[in-house]
Amino acid sequence: MPNLNGKTALITGASSGIGAATARELAQAGVTVGIAARRTDRLETLKTEIEATGGKAIILEMDVCDVASVEAGVAKLVDATGTIDILFNNAGLMPLSDIDQFKTDEWRRMVDVNINGVLNTTSAVLPHMIAAKSGHIFNTSSIAGRKVFAGLTVYCATKHAITAFSDGLRMEVGKKHNIRVTCIQPGAVATELYEQISDPAIKAQMEDLRKEMTFLEGNDIANTILYAAQAPNHVDLAEIFIMPTQQS
Ligand code: NDP
Repeated sequence: MPNLNGKTALITGASSGIGAATARELAQAGVTVGIAARRTDRLETLKTEIEATGGKAIILEMDVCDVASVEAGVAKLVDATGTIDILFNNAGLMPLSDIDQFKTDEWRRMVDVNINGVLNTTSAVLPHMIAAKSGHIFNTSSIAGRKVFAGLTVYCATKHAITAFSDGLRMEVGKKHNIRVTCIQPGAVATELYEQISDPAIKAQMEDLRKEMTFLEGNDIANTILYAAQAPNHVDLAEIFIMPTQQS
C-alpha cells in the first residue's frame, strides 16, 4: 500500500463537513493539506487542530467560482510544497426548492459552485499533475449524481454533470498521464449542507429523513478517500457509492 507521507493535497470546501473531515484524515496520514474555502476563520481553527496533532496544513482563501482566486491558491500551495498529488474537488451547495418557485439565483449558484468550481480547480491543478506524470483527483458527486429526486432537480443536474465529468476525465488522463480519478457518490451525510435549503417543505422532508435513519458522518467519507488514495497505483477506484445502511 503506497505511503501518503510527504504528499500534498488540495481540498476544496475544507471549512466544514466532508472537506474538513478529509483534511484531518489525510493530515494524520502525513499529507500536507492545502485547505481551501471562503470562511478563513474556520480554516484557521482547522489548521490549529491539525497542527496540534502533528500534521501540516496551509490555508488557501479560495472561491472556486473565481478563476483568479483558484489560480492564486494553487500557486501558493505549489510554491510551498512543489507539487499537488491529490485534488479533492469537494466544495458544493444544495439550496433546494421546486422548479416552479423559479429561484433562479439558487440554480445559478449551484451550477457555478458544483460544476464550474470543479472545472476551475481541475484546470488549475491538472497541468502540475501532467508534468509530474502522476496524481489523484477525487470529485464529490452524490447519490443525486446517480438518480434524480423531485425537489432536487437542479442539484441532481449538477451532480450528474460531475459523475459524467469524472468518468470522461478518468478515461482521458488515466492511460495518457498516469492520473487516477475517483468519483465519490455519498448518500445522506450529517453536515451543514442541509442548512441552506430555502424551501420549508423540502427542509422539513430532509429533517424527517434524518429522524428515520443514522446519517453518514464526514469521517465515513474521509476514510474511503484515504482507502482509495492508498490503493496501489495501478488501482483506480473509479466510483465510490457510499450510503447510510438505512437509506434506500
Ligand atoms: P458543507 O456545507 O459542510 O460544506 C460545503 C463546503 O463547500 C464548505 O466548506 C464551503 O466553504 C464550501 N464552498 C461553498 N461554496 C464555495 C465557494 N464558492 N468556494 C469555495 N468553497 C465553497 O457540506 P458537505 O460537507 O456535506 O458538502 C461537501 C460536498 O459533498 C458537496 O459537494 C456536497 O454537494 C456533497 N454531498 C453532500 C452530501 C450530504 O448529505 N451532506 C451527500 C452527497 C454529496 P465556505 O462557505 O467557507 O466557502
